[in-house]
Amino acid sequence: MLPPVRCFTCGAPLGHLWPEFKRRVESGEDPEKVLDELGVKRYCCRRTLYTAITYIERVASFDSPKTREIRLRMYTVPVRSVGVEK
Ligand SMILES: [Zn+2]
Repeated sequence: MLPPVRCFTCGAPLGHLWPEFKRRVESGEDPEKVLDELGVKRYCCRRTLYTAITYIERVASFDSPKTREIRLRMYTVPVRSVGVEK
């Protein structure tokens, strides 16, 4: 439901990579290339990011407008607020 914070298998932090991964894949880039460029090398971590299904937006659509606004603000991370150092 929520973006993965850590790899389910090895525990490596992945949450900071999610916004860029999602944005680039949704814009049509190859997920394999994006994962390579983000430096995600382990299969378990690649699987965790690649197979993550977030449906917080769908759940929030059933809320009242005020609750939806609060929920989306809590769980949707703006891409610019996440600093991925390169
Ligand atoms: Zn892992």
